Amino acid sequence: MKDLGFSISQSRTIDLDKSDLSAYRRVVEKVPSAKLCLMCGACTATCTARNHTDFNFRKVHLLFRRGQFEGLAEELDKCMLCGKCRLVCNRGVNTRAIIYNMRIILENLNYKSIK
Ligand code: SF4
Ligand code: SF4
Repeated sequence: MKDLGFSISQSRTIDLDKSDLSAYRRVVEKVPSAKLCLMCGACTATCTARNHTDFNFRKVHLLFRRGQFEGLAEELDKCMLCGKCRLVCNRGVNTRAIIYNMRIILENLNYKSIK
């Protein structure tokens, strides 16, 4: 690796080459607009569930993309699938469908039953 004059602490390093990205590919097959997400956070700012929980679509989407599934099923249960986030997304991302498919995939991976 090239010496850039600084290093990243190991605890903050994410090696995507070692991550299982196959689950996210399945989400993209079902919801192609998932690829358009810029992680801008507009959906999170207007999220209905955010009014009474700490649910953060941007965060769970990013973690799922990286294959970091621990605790995600519980987080996704906080979403009410109301669809408001989809209305405000400036990229036309079908957020609701992404959440729904992430839930199903996590269930199939035995992370937790969907409600
Ligand atoms: S889904 Fe849309 S609003 Fe939400 S972070 Fe991605 S681009 Fe932004
Ligand atoms: S569908 Fe879920 S993430 Fe989107 S606004 Fe509603 S509660 Fe929030």
